[in-house]
Amino acid sequence: MLLEGSCHCRAVRFSVESHEPVPFMRCYCSICRKTAGSGGFAINLGADFRTLEVEGREHLGVYRARMEDGRTSTGQRHFCRECGSALWLYDPSWPDLVHPHAGAVDTPLPTPPVVTHMMLGSKPSWVALQVDRDDSIADTYPDESLADWHRRHHLSR
Ligand SMILES: [Zn+2]
Ligand SMILES: [Zn+2]
Repeated sequence: MLLEGSCHCRAVRFSVESHEPVPFMRCYCSICRKTAGSGGFAINLGADFRTLEVEGREHLGVYRARMEDGRTSTGQRHFCRECGSALWLYDPSWPDLVHPHAGAVDTPLPTPPVVTHMMLGSKPSWVALQVDRDDSIADTYPDESLADWHRRHHLSR
């Protein structure tokens, strides 16, 4: 599935091919929450880095999070320096993948049949967790990758 996305001010526009376009994974960690999800979580998709095309690259900023143990995250969180929109995460540890934020995607995305709630150990108490019957929950990382989940639900494309 071809995803097209943009920041809010549209200085940055991008397109990328995605095999994992279903926005089912909600991450409640403090990095996602503070940089991309003030409702309590952010949703990243899985896409093919080699197909990423960007217009307005000169407006991009990159944030590498400082971890609790003092290390700097290898994840490169790309955002628009003009409007602050969080756009995608790229981590050179997995060079074939890029993770666009669902919120930055303009292409209509499939509705997830179930949701995975991850990093609940970092969820603040004010965020009301809404878990449906068949949803999955994880205090840290779920056992299943984005790709495995799509295969299990026959939603790869
Ligand atoms: Zn912008
Ligand atoms: Zn997170």
